[in-house]
Amino acid sequence: MLSDDDEIGLHYEDTLRAGDGLCNEGAVRVLVEEGPRRALELIEWGARFDREGARLALTREAAHSKRRILHAQGDSTGREIVRALVARARATPGVELLTRLFSIDLVMQGGRSVGLLAIDESCGATLLLRAPAVMLATGGAGQIYRETTNPPQATGDGMAMAYRAGAEMMDLEFVQFHPTGCSSPELPASCSPRRCAAKAGAW
Ligand SMILES: Cc1cc2nc3c(=O)[nH]c(=O)nc-3n(C[C@H](O)[C@H](O)[C@H](O)COP(=O)(O)OP(=O)(O)OC[C@H]3O[C@@H](n4cnc5c(N)ncnc54)[C@H](O)[C@@H]3O)c2cc1C
Repeated sequence: MLSDDDEIGLHYEDTLRAGDGLCNEGAVRVLVEEGPRRALELIEWGARFDREGARLALTREAAHSKRRILHAQGDSTGREIVRALVARARATPGVELLTRLFSIDLVMQGGRSVGLLAIDESCGATLLLRAPAVMLATGGAGQIYRETTNPPQATGDGMAMAYRAGAEMMDLEFVQFHPTGCSSPELPASCSPRRCAAKAGAW
């Protein structure tokens, strides 16, 4: 664990209680057993989480009974994790990063994905990228809702690609809404859900 005051068993119970019977218990076990090690790995790779003196600053959120949430520069945790991961990927031999490519479809052969069709956003050309395996990590689909705090890219593209390729979809009803977001017709149109979330956080 990241804190001497915490136990794997407690984290497991808190997570199952918050999931209210919907959790995949095997996945929760992986999360609580491997999570702290993975967080330390991120730190080794250069992620700078907030500290109190020499110790990691841990906060308590939602259904957690102990302080175990890391954060970076207050509310920029995701940005800091992505910064560290991109730097690590750039420094890893054999990893080639192609940016400004928008994937549009998997290329299938004999029921297996053998590549990807993508648009090169810098020139509009459609590219065929061959690959022995394709892993999609394209995030969620929060943008199908009029009001959302999800990023503009969360349009469900990856899910649609997988579905068109014949993949079985599951748990589609799980869409994240940030618990401190708010939306009201009385708010000015210029007030985006993200800004409202910031205000709600300050209440
Ligand atoms: C407002 C808000 C606050 C949050 N706060 C926290 C927090 O404090 N702590 C926490 O643990 N989690 C938090 N989360 C949740 C966390 O951000 C997500 O669970 C996490 O980012 C999901 O990671 P992902 O890699 O699955 O998807 P994403 O991070 O969404 O990454 C998907 C990537 O795929 C790219 N992509 C999508 N479609 C295509 C395409 N067709 N072609 C090419 N690229 C594509 C996107 O541009 C994006 O870079 C928060 C989420 C929100 C919305």
